[in-house]
Amino acid sequence: MEEHTPQRVGVFGGTFDPVHSGHLAVALEVRHRLELDRMLLVVANDPWQKTVFNSVTPARFRFEMVRAAVAAANETIGASVLEASDHEIRRGGRTCTADTLAALDAQTGGTDLFVVVGSDVAASLDTWERPEEVQRLATTVVAERAGSVGGRPPPGWEHVVVEAPALEVSSTDVRNRFRNGRPVLGLLPTPVIDYVRSNGLYGSPR
Ligand code: ATP
Repeated sequence: MEEHTPQRVGVFGGTFDPVHSGHLAVALEVRHRLELDRMLLVVANDPWQKTVFNSVTPARFRFEMVRAAVAAANETIGASVLEASDHEIRRGGRTCTADTLAALDAQTGGTDLFVVVGSDVAASLDTWERPEEVQRLATTVVAERAGSVGGRPPPGWEHVVVEAPALEVSSTDVRNRFRNGRPVLGLLPTPVIDYVRSNGLYGSPR
């Protein structure tokens, strides 16, 4: 009988408001280190843990920015190493990683899933919906984030740690920079900067 090695698929969810170089460095490093076949950047439809405090940019804009960033990265690398996923946007409603993993598991059948979080998020994994299902369906990967080094999942939560390049960039800082007319070059891909400006996002002049 033919041997079948399961595909290894990374699931990196985020608000991506906007996607920046820190996100891309994590996605590429985890894919490389864990020898993943696919790495999905899954755009949250309604990241409820954020929207209780602040409004976020409509999902279709955030997805278009991830799509532009992924296209630029793939073109530079010369291979389709990253994928933009609108799975959660098409499903609608509140973001629920357990649902996303369950759907991917059902769709792909026999895939090894890896759910990727930054170390600033790791400690709060128990606040996600159905955390035990997340643990059952995927291997948790913690990417060290500059400024949050050492953040780990709650006790008993199995995980692997990947040291990503420490890039001290956040979407919050990038949004503030656009709003205040400060430099953004180098913090996010040029096609994303162009998209932000041509759509007048984050208070940037069109
Ligand atoms: P915001 O500043 O609006 O809170 P953010 O920069 O944290 O946004 P998110 O889209 O919320 O970006 O993050 C998605 C995932 O990427 C999270 O798991 C987060 O920990 C991780 N992440 C974001 N920025 C970095 C970075 N610079 N290095 C490592 N991980 C990061």
